[in-house]
Amino acid sequence: MDQKSDSEKILWHTLSKEEVFKSLNADMSGISDEERDKRLLEYGPNKLEEEVKLSAFEIFISQFKSILIGILIFAALASFAVGELIDFSAIIAIILLNAILGFFQEWQARKAIDALKKMLGLSAYVLKNNTETVINSEDVVLGDIVILESGRKVPADIFLFEETTLQIDESVLTGESAPVLKNTSPSEPDAMTGDKYNMAFMGTVVTNGRGRGIVVETGMNTEFGKIAGLTSKISEDETVLSRQMNTLGKNISAISVFVAFLIVILGIFQSRNLMEMFMTTVSLAVAVIPEGLPAVVTLTLAVGIKSMYKKKCLIRHLSASETLGSVSVICTDKTGTLTKNEMTLTKIYVPDMVFFVSGSGYDPKGEFFLNEKPVPPNEYDGLLKFLQAGLFCNHAILKKSKGEWSVIGTPTEGALVTAAHKADIPEYKLPMQKIAKEFSFDSSRKRMTTIYERDEGFVAYSKGAPEIILKLCSHIYKNKTAVPLLDNDREILKDVYESFAREGLRVLAIASKRLDKIPDNSEEAESSLVFFGFAGIIDPPRSEAKDAIALCRTADVDVIMITGDFEITAKAVAESVELKSDGVLKGTDIDNLDDKALLDKLSHVKILARVNAEHKLRIIDVLNQDGHIVAMTGDGVNDAPALKKADIGIAMGIKGSDVAKEAGDMILLDDNFESIVSGIHEGRREYDNIQKFTRYLLSSNVGEVIAIISGMLMGLPLILLPLQILWMNLVTDGVSALALGLEPAEKDIMRQQPKNPNEPVLGKKTLLMILVAGIYIGLSTLALFLLYDFDLEKARTIAFTGIIIIELLNVLNFRSFRQTLRTRGFFSNPYIIIAILSSLVLQLIVVYSPPFQAVFKTVALNLSDWLVIAFFGILLVLSGEIYKLFSGKIAENNASDKLSTNLAF
Ligand code: ADP
Ligand code: MG
Repeated sequence: MDQKSDSEKILWHTLSKEEVFKSLNADMSGISDEERDKRLLEYGPNKLEEEVKLSAFEIFISQFKSILIGILIFAALASFAVGELIDFSAIIAIILLNAILGFFQEWQARKAIDALKKMLGLSAYVLKNNTETVINSEDVVLGDIVILESGRKVPADIFLFEETTLQIDESVLTGESAPVLKNTSPSEPDAMTGDKYNMAFMGTVVTNGRGRGIVVETGMNTEFGKIAGLTSKISEDETVLSRQMNTLGKNISAISVFVAFLIVILGIFQSRNLMEMFMTTVSLAVAVIPEGLPAVVTLTLAVGIKSMYKKKCLIRHLSASETLGSVSVICTDKTGTLTKNEMTLTKIYVPDMVFFVSGSGYDPKGEFFLNEKPVPPNEYDGLLKFLQAGLFCNHAILKKSKGEWSVIGTPTEGALVTAAHKADIPEYKLPMQKIAKEFSFDSSRKRMTTIYERDEGFVAYSKGAPEIILKLCSHIYKNKTAVPLLDNDREILKDVYESFAREGLRVLAIASKRLDKIPDNSEEAESSLVFFGFAGIIDPPRSEAKDAIALCRTADVDVIMITGDFEITAKAVAESVELKSDGVLKGTDIDNLDDKALLDKLSHVKILARVNAEHKLRIIDVLNQDGHIVAMTGDGVNDAPALKKADIGIAMGIKGSDVAKEAGDMILLDDNFESIVSGIHEGRREYDNIQKFTRYLLSSNVGEVIAIISGMLMGLPLILLPLQILWMNLVTDGVSALALGLEPAEKDIMRQQPKNPNEPVLGKKTLLMILVAGIYIGLSTLALFLLYDFDLEKARTIAFTGIIIIELLNVLNFRSFRQTLRTRGFFSNPYIIIAILSSLVLQLIVVYSPPFQAVFKTVALNLSDWLVIAFFGILLVLSGEIYKLFSGKIAENNASDKLSTNLAF
């Protein structure tokens, strides 16, 4: 088991099973925990090397790589050259402070993203002490026995020694899109990757059947590792918002260059001190350009990912958390999302009897009733045949732990096992029995078939959607024999399964047939079947789904149920969660509609039944064309394209396949519909907050520019000194903007329309609001200065302190655009209070402590000065409040629906 150099690399695919086990020092029962730890230590984790991470130092250094900092350093040097040592040191200190703040922001964001990467790790199914256990795929070691199943991703390079119709999609490695049928005989020594039929490779995907194998290579030694660089990592690609922020930043930079130019001209005209003019322009540029905005946006989104995680939404792309807020249609699965996916078989039809089965969940206690009387199931031959077939066409196992019964495998199959158990069918422990061949279930086939070798030959067992299985049946099992299935029988059977479906039951048909040899293809296996009966399986709706759907209605988010299940069942479930729909649209109907007609249908039909993965693509397409932002759920391998195509692909965390999880933008950890809605709620909050601090920062900047320029126009001495501008930009703006990013959601956030993602961050109305606040800030600073005109030092101190205090209080205006502070709760965001108080303390130090007085050229203020400043600040907050009070009243009168929901977020 040494690390081999290339020349002596073992050709695993040419070896026999015994040779492989021997050289890996492994056995069939699997790897113990101690052995795993040892091997992990020796060979390292089973993962691909990531690109080198930036060290803390490099992140710190990168803070200095901006034009703005360059300008500042230039300014510092210029001050040094003319002998202004105090200015020089102060600017350097401010640059450092800025870098430290920037460093911490970026560090936080990276930490959040790293934590996410850890959570995204895939699972592997391995044997420990002969029992299947789930481990993190990074912990897979050489010699592990891995169990492969349709929908699972192969965790390492594996030598196969057991398989039933195992098919693997190896396109990531070979580019070949058709799945490869595997076997267990040795391959040619010089076989290419795609021709090593007895091997399964890391990163490839099982599309059919099952298999077992032993891990022979891990991590970078795997075939996938050799072509690494294809690592599927979280993309930190630009989000729409950060792109918008960048454009915004550029526009503002252009404006500030213009303003700077203006100031210089003005200064020359008024023959002001050139050095002073230079410093003023530099500090203004620093103040105005919101270069920190993209970083703060990223930080807000990264921090938001954490709160989304608490709401069971695991975000895979930063941009997803932002798109989530603008979702206007949710296309959701039924099973597991709107329902609990806890299946119990309650009704069985076998010709011509309907049995009722008591009991709940997977607890195998229950009785069979016929005509409301308990009956012994073993006296009914047809029932036994049905239950047996249900067991043979099955992979689920029941497990009891801590007194609770649960299922390993799919819930639908678990329901069949439980029922067989209740009838004491001795084979209920069976599925272990060797299946000779299998045609697996997938959502487009809507059926599966297993083939067993028996004394009398081969037997195929099929189960699936009733109308599909019935089409494949030629006979029906009645009175202990198979008789031809007549049209009349088909009518009756249809009535039966429809009546099951009307009760909201999920219906499965079960059938079987004899074969003299193992069939080559599914047509051979799945034709001329003998019909055994129907299972009616109940899947209770989630109690919280009803409220979540109601909330979507108020939030103007459309909900469309997309299910592979039968239309009547789908309708019954929709009714129980109060999803209103004008009829049901079937997959086949969708095929017959053109885009326009389909879109038209979708505006009032919200239940889509017997739909497959390709239909999902079309639905996304037409909804997108209509300008909708679509969230689409999915779980199967087939769903991957739809998950990629949707604006937000939501993969199921519990029942989802590895492939779906990797294709989705988000993983729904609890599969619960309500969690999607809380995710949207959270996304809206983040978007709102980003808007809040952007607007706030801009209004402050506008205020600063207006104060300085209007002072110059009036021929006054500079009313704010360069260092003062740098200081206020650092202390007030940054901290309070971050605090705004942590605002709790607006109470009416789910009664607003979804955001249009193409709408610019700054609309006309916003611009007006920023200007009004900015002009107020600028002019009141000017007024403060003029009030103390007789004493320059004092006037500057007042203007400087005034603009900081007014901007600080202005934060309160931007906490909400609709609600007054009273409705919003004055203390509901403690970070705001902390930001205001800490900035205030800093300002007190600047005004009263002699060393700072020397640097910032300030003088002590007295109580009456503070009162004057407070007056200007409070007036601004009061005006904002009064405005909101009135516009709120108007909005309230216009509001038509006052639907209250008891959903707590
Ligand atoms: P959904 O997840 O939307 O309920 P599926 O695509 O899982 O729908 O299932 C569609 C239909 O396929 C079900 O109504 C059922 O009749 C059938 N089916 C579901 N699971 C299985 C299975 N494991 N084996 C055979 N048939 C199944
Ligand atoms: Mg399903």
